[in-house]
Amino acid sequence: MGEAKRRKPGGFDLTTGFSEAERAQLSQMRTGAYRHARTVLERARTAPAAIQQHEIAALHLEGVRALDASTEELLRSAPAGAAITAKIACRKGCTFCCHSQVEVGIVEAIAIAHAIAGNPDLSAGVRAAAPKVQGLSALARMQARIPCPLLRDGACSVYADRPRSCRALTSYDVSACEDEFERPAAERARRPTFTWPRYLATALTSGVAMACSELKLQSNTLELIAGIDTVLADQTTVARWLAGETVFPVSPA
Ligand code: SF4
Repeated sequence: MGEAKRRKPGGFDLTTGFSEAERAQLSQMRTGAYRHARTVLERARTAPAAIQQHEIAALHLEGVRALDASTEELLRSAPAGAAITAKIACRKGCTFCCHSQVEVGIVEAIAIAHAIAGNPDLSAGVRAAAPKVQGLSALARMQARIPCPLLRDGACSVYADRPRSCRALTSYDVSACEDEFERPAAERARRPTFTWPRYLATALTSGVAMACSELKLQSNTLELIAGIDTVLADQTTVARWLAGETVFPVSPA
């Protein structure tokens, strides 16, 4: 299973650009995510309000564990796995990408809000950052150099729960990340990354979104901080979302 060099990360057309084995793995990830999310969200809909958010947080964690396991299995078993691992430049303390705009699904936003709900410092940080990032484009966000409010002492404070897009961004070149941070620009060469985790993450996101859509739940992606803030701002957010209301920002991240 090789690195996916030729494909657009946003596109998710399984009919082109992937080997048969890759298509099978992505399809399995998407279908599994869809089935599991549908079961859990249906159950959460009728659960007492006190455990709805807990159920959704568990759904997110199960999904990202599957994502991590698939990536690790690839790195362990593929002929190029050791070479890819040796090239990965991401290290604890390197935080350039934590100044970028992060796009998440609604399940992820609810799960991360749940993870920080008992931490007044992190919750207050998110609530304070939300108005600062509201309405900023991805470029304006980089130019403003606003760090993710979940970043603490050079590390992600919700590392186990971090969004799929954060865990799937794996750089081969720290100088390219630094350059993007120091000189944000609308047009620049794509930084070299290990792309396969992004396709797995997209498959996972797509499966969960399919389940939300089938259950008539709001299912757009949204900016991370805005999503978490929406949950923290109103204790009825999750119950109203599960009841089919449009409660999260609908504008693109
Ligand atoms: S959630 Fe964690 S990994 Fe993602 S941008 Fe924020 S601090 Fe960085």
